[in-house]
Amino acid sequence: MNEFSLIADYFAPLAGEGAFGLKDDAAALRVPEGRELVLTKDAMIAGVHFFVDDAAGDIARKLLRVNLSDLAAKGAEPLGYLLACMLPKDTPEPWIADFAAGLARDQKEFGITLLGGDTAAGSATLCLSLTALGTVAKGTMLRRNGAKAGDDVYVSGTIGDAALFLKSGQWSMVSGQEEYLRQRYLVPRPRLALGRALIGVASACLDISDGLAADAGHIAEVSGVCLELEAENVPLSDVARACVAQDEKLWETVLSGGDDYELLFTAPPEKAAALAQAAQKSGVSVTRIGTVTQGAGVIVRQGGQPMEFARKGWTHF
Ligand code: ADP
Ligand code: MG
Repeated sequence: MNEFSLIADYFAPLAGEGAFGLKDDAAALRVPEGRELVLTKDAMIAGVHFFVDDAAGDIARKLLRVNLSDLAAKGAEPLGYLLACMLPKDTPEPWIADFAAGLARDQKEFGITLLGGDTAAGSATLCLSLTALGTVAKGTMLRRNGAKAGDDVYVSGTIGDAALFLKSGQWSMVSGQEEYLRQRYLVPRPRLALGRALIGVASACLDISDGLAADAGHIAEVSGVCLELEAENVPLSDVARACVAQDEKLWETVLSGGDDYELLFTAPPEKAAALAQAAQKSGVSVTRIGTVTQGAGVIVRQGGQPMEFARKGWTHF
C-alpha cells in the first residue's frame, strides 16, 4: 500500500461531484444561487478524542458526525468535506478499509461526499482532521450571539450519556446500560434537521461538545446575557437517570462532561409554537431548561440552589 493506491482504493470511491475522483490537486465547487458557505473543522487525536482500539469505522463516523454537528448548530445543509489523515507508519490496510467503510456508511445517511484531503504517514500518534462544508440561505446562519433577556433556553435530545460512559468504570452498572452509553459516546447524532428548522426560530444556537454548563457560557458571553438553567429540567435518558439516582455527584458529570453533540439554543417565548413544530418535523425532542436574563455568565440551579462545579466543561490546556 502506498499513498496513491490508498487514495485510489479507499478514498476515491467516496468522492463526490467537484472532486474529480481525487485525481487533481483540488476540488471545484459551485455554491447554489442565493446560498453561502458554512465551514467548520474538527480534529481528533488517538488517546484524546477516542480510544486507540476503537473500531476504525466508528472513529471515522465520529469524526464526520462531530463536524456535521457543527453544521447542524448553524442550520446548514451538508455539502461536502475534506479529510486529513496523519497515520502511524505501521497502520494496517484493513484499518484503512474499515475507516473508509465507516465514512461510506455515514455519507449515505447524511447526504455528504468527500471532496479531497491529505494523507501522511509517519505520525507517532494517529491524528485526523476533517473540514465540513455546508450551505445556508444568505445571511441566515444561526449564531451564538443573538440571545436576549426574556428568551427561553432549550436543549435537544438527552444530556450526559457520553460523559457518563467515560466515567462508567467508577460504579457498577446494570448490563446493557454501559453499551447504551458507549453508543452515545461513539456515534453522536448530528441534529441536522432540527438545526435547519431552527432558522428563523432560534435567537442563538450552538452544539454541546465541551459540556452543557461551559457551552451555555459561550452563548452568554457572546450574547452579553446570563443563562439561568434548572438542573431538574435537563432531559436525561433512562440510563443516565438511573446513574444519577445511584450517585448524585454524577450530576456534575452530566452537566459539564460534554461530548453530547446536542443543540443548545435560545428562542423568544412568542416562538414557542413554531419551535414545537420544528421539533416535531425533525423528530427530535426539545426541552426547555431555563431562561435568559440580564447579566453575565451561567447559573445552574438544583433544588433552587446554585450548583458549584469543579470545572464547567472540557478544556485542552
Ligand atoms: P498534492 O500532493 O498535490 O497535495 P496529494 O497527492 O496529496 O496531492 O492528493 C491527491 C488528491 O487526493 C487530491 O485531490 C487530494 O485532495 C486527495 N486526497 C489525498 N489524501 C486524501 C484523503 N485522506 N482524503 C481525501 N482525499 C485525499
Ligand atoms: Mg498537487
